Amino acid sequence: MSKPPFILYIDRDEIRRKRIWRALTRAGCQVALAVTALDGVDQARRAVPDLILIEGDLRDRRAYNIAARLRAEPDLATVPIVALTSPGHVPPAHASTGSDLSGWIADSTDERVLAGRVARYLEGAPLEKQPAEPSPEMRDLVTRLESDVRELEASNRALRRLDRIKEDFIQLTAHELRTPLTTVYGYSQLVQTSRAVQELMARDPEVRACLAGLIDSIERLHRVIDEIIVVSRIASGHLDLKWTPTDLADLVARVLRDYGPVAEQRRLTLRNELEPISELFFADGDLLELAVSNLLGNAIKYTPDGGTITVRGTVNPYGTVYLSVQDTGIGIDPDEQEQIFDRFYTAGDTQLHTTSKTAFRGGGLGLGLAICRGIVEAHGGRIWVESEGCDPERLPGSIFHIELPLERLPPGTVR
Ligand code: ADP
Repeated sequence: MSKPPFILYIDRDEIRRKRIWRALTRAGCQVALAVTALDGVDQARRAVPDLILIEGDLRDRRAYNIAARLRAEPDLATVPIVALTSPGHVPPAHASTGSDLSGWIADSTDERVLAGRVARYLEGAPLEKQPAEPSPEMRDLVTRLESDVRELEASNRALRRLDRIKEDFIQLTAHELRTPLTTVYGYSQLVQTSRAVQELMARDPEVRACLAGLIDSIERLHRVIDEIIVVSRIASGHLDLKWTPTDLADLVARVLRDYGPVAEQRRLTLRNELEPISELFFADGDLLELAVSNLLGNAIKYTPDGGTITVRGTVNPYGTVYLSVQDTGIGIDPDEQEQIFDRFYTAGDTQLHTTSKTAFRGGGLGLGLAICRGIVEAHGGRIWVESEGCDPERLPGSIFHIELPLERLPPGTVR
């Protein structure tokens, strides 16, 4: 049996690294992964690959620079070094000419197509480039730069360690707060059902108002602590998905039902325009429901009374589940459309925030969308927003889109 081709793949993006690893391994290759250019150089020095793939669009210098650094290694002078551009991005035909890259291939979500493109480079005639002989000045510069980068990497590792300690602290504190709060919450529910308290509430509107305020605050505190726990799990990469057969129509109907009373109070029309979806798909139903609920909650929060919120969804023929939440609200500035998915990012004036989760421009910690993104990306999907801009007078509205891979079997199942 001949030896499998050995490919080194360099990419900073974990999700794509895993995908490419899976595709090439399935195609019979042996694949080593590197996150940084230096890590790639170290690995390629230890075991010379048959082909090196570098993630890079060729719209910036990154892939060219990494290729140049790899070529400076005498053992790698003739190894094909190929840039893998993002799906859909096709660089000009001669984008790699005159550089240290042997060429480029367009990434594809179809594993067979991708493997075919890689195979063409593996089968290609040996390159005729001579080993480069860098000048002493160049070698000196490279050594100094490498030492700077290694120092930066060490500081980075220290910062990451501190960040982890901070995440652990947040998570621990949130858990410690949640335990007694769950008891308080339980008692508050019990009190409500007690006959004596019910009689008292019926007689005395002040008691009724106090109790309602108390329960409302406890529920809000509960929600905030739960949000912090989920978001810190996402940040530390510990969001374990429980894959269950999920019915999108049911899920959306449940979320819409939950928001029904609020919508009625605020004269908002909630429209369900989901296409009939007959099949179940595998997802963490509870987490997905939380993501959809956050999107709908935001749509309600940022749409003035009398507006309309529409949920659409379908299964795309190319194997993805698509869902969108559109509102007729204040909209979002293009400059902020990326940042709003960051943790604790709250666009607009926090002075306007009230303590209510559903009042117009009501408050929040700026965690809702970070949670949505974490959940969607943990499913291997993507989330994005479309809006012409923020204008509380003209109300251009926003559309949040979610696209998830249609998992017909629990992920990890051998097909
Ligand atoms: P918050 O708890 O502040 O609502 P999110 O993470 O859910 O946090 O949202 C972050 C920011 O994104 C919000 O503060 C708001 O400015 C903006 N935003 C989110 N959804 C919408 C929407 N549907 N319309 C307008 N702005 C929105």
